[in-house]
Amino acid sequence: MTQTQLRATYRDLTFRTADNVLHVSAYAWPGGYPTYFVTNDGGSLCPQCVRSERNRIVHATLTTYGDREWSLEGQDVNYEDDHLFCDHCARQIESAYGGV
Ligand SMILES: [Zn+2]
Repeated sequence: MTQTQLRATYRDLTFRTADNVLHVSAYAWPGGYPTYFVTNDGGSLCPQCVRSERNRIVHATLTTYGDREWSLEGQDVNYEDDHLFCDHCARQIESAYGGV
């Protein structure tokens, strides 16, 4: 296998893995609760921004030299925080129960 073929295989594997890792859903299953994403620097991202900035996020999350503000730590449910905003677009992130 040539170096070019190796790189293509690695790139293909990386993005297939990323597809599994980055299954972007705005709502949790089961339950249908609204979700958001947490970055390595403690920020919050809405599902729309994770979709639109997918390539940047995949690169940052799967490498050690990507920007930490785009590297995902995980996905969580916003149960009741009415003051949670996306750090990229500043849109309010929907909460399940509002300010309880
Ligand atoms: Zn956003």
